[in-house]
Amino acid sequence: MNLHEYQAKTILSNFDVPIQRGKVTDNINEVEDVAKSLNHETGTEWFVVKAQIHAGGRGKGGGVKVAKSIDELKNFSSDILGMMLKTPQTPKEGKLVQKILIAEDVYYPGESDPEEYYFSVLLNRNTSKYMIMYSRQGGMDIEKVAEETPDLIFYEEIDPLLGLMPNQLRTIAFNLGLSGQAFKNMLSFASKLYNAFIESDASLLEINPVLKTSDNKILAVDAKMVLDDNSIIRHKNYEALRDLSEENPVETEAKEVGLNYVDLDGNIGCMVNGAGLAMATMDLIKQSGGEPANFLDVGGTADAKRVEVAFNLILRDPKVKAVLVNIFGGIVRCDRVANGIVDAYKNMGDKIKVPIIVRLQGTNAEQAKEIIDNAGLKIYSAVEFSEVPQKIKEVLN
Ligand code: GDP
Ligand code: MN
Repeated sequence: MNLHEYQAKTILSNFDVPIQRGKVTDNINEVEDVAKSLNHETGTEWFVVKAQIHAGGRGKGGGVKVAKSIDELKNFSSDILGMMLKTPQTPKEGKLVQKILIAEDVYYPGESDPEEYYFSVLLNRNTSKYMIMYSRQGGMDIEKVAEETPDLIFYEEIDPLLGLMPNQLRTIAFNLGLSGQAFKNMLSFASKLYNAFIESDASLLEINPVLKTSDNKILAVDAKMVLDDNSIIRHKNYEALRDLSEENPVETEAKEVGLNYVDLDGNIGCMVNGAGLAMATMDLIKQSGGEPANFLDVGGTADAKRVEVAFNLILRDPKVKAVLVNIFGGIVRCDRVANGIVDAYKNMGDKIKVPIIVRLQGTNAEQAKEIIDNAGLKIYSAVEFSEVPQKIKEVLN
């Protein structure tokens, strides 16, 4: 689950990580009061208004603006709230800004060259360890830094059983070129950040930029946090953080009916039973030159009702040019699945406008093929997977 910046910052501050303080609102009429209370709390006279959408690069798209007065803040806020913000990470048409974060300006006025660092905590699946990635080249495209000057990015691997060790903290502060109070503050910052990542069961925590102020404070100015969906049962308050307007509606609907659906970029819709077979099917589609449009695991009970629900979900995606059903009938016999598919197809009538390829393998596979072939529907059947790539090519042409 992805979080908004303001939500991530709330979590960070609960773990005592120093952050750029701010308040979120969805109402332009509240901006003045928010600014006044922020001024009261922090003494700030300048403010920054930041669009809250699930995408980075907001600064470049005009979604982050620094205001030198409350009037200016009100103007910028009304520009940003309700805009379709386009950044390199949003869809072409942009994303609607429904909330803004009004924050203190932490780049002191007149400060010539603030130091901005890049910082992230993530899981390195190759080594089964956590990893802190950091760089002095923060505030800009880290992807560009990684490509052009990879030696400016440092890595610290953390054994999950040992945790982040004091010598590792010192290495980080040293590599960032810090000394004195800033060095000490970085030790504390990195340690609290890692703790926040672990305790909140995050799968990613990215702070870009981390700011060193001229008086040597170390602050999180931005925060991107992804929580591990599998950990939600351990955190009762997490479900309330989910912003459904930012999630794929088809994925949300699938979750509600207990189907495992993930939207992808290709054009071949997939309906498969079992996550392992779903992954293998995606590999096979790719190897035969196609691109899967989704990952859909219908689970053990591939009956007519479930198949129909699954068809409906897959066909909602306009990218889908053909649907491949690849089901292994073990406990559910193939003939039953075949009947389910035929019934679902008939129920859906003219809603199905793309060719369907069905490959059933397992108990009573031949019988299943007969059922499909004799149904008089526009369904192509296969028993061996090796027949599938050719069928896909045929129907796509
Ligand atoms: P992103 O563009 O989506 O990554 O959003 P960020 O939160 O990282 O903000 C973009 C940029 O705005 C940062 O790199 C900063 O340079 C700038 N920025 C953020 N907060 C402040 C602030 O309080 N004062 C000033 N002057 N600039 C800020
Ligand atoms: Mn950023």
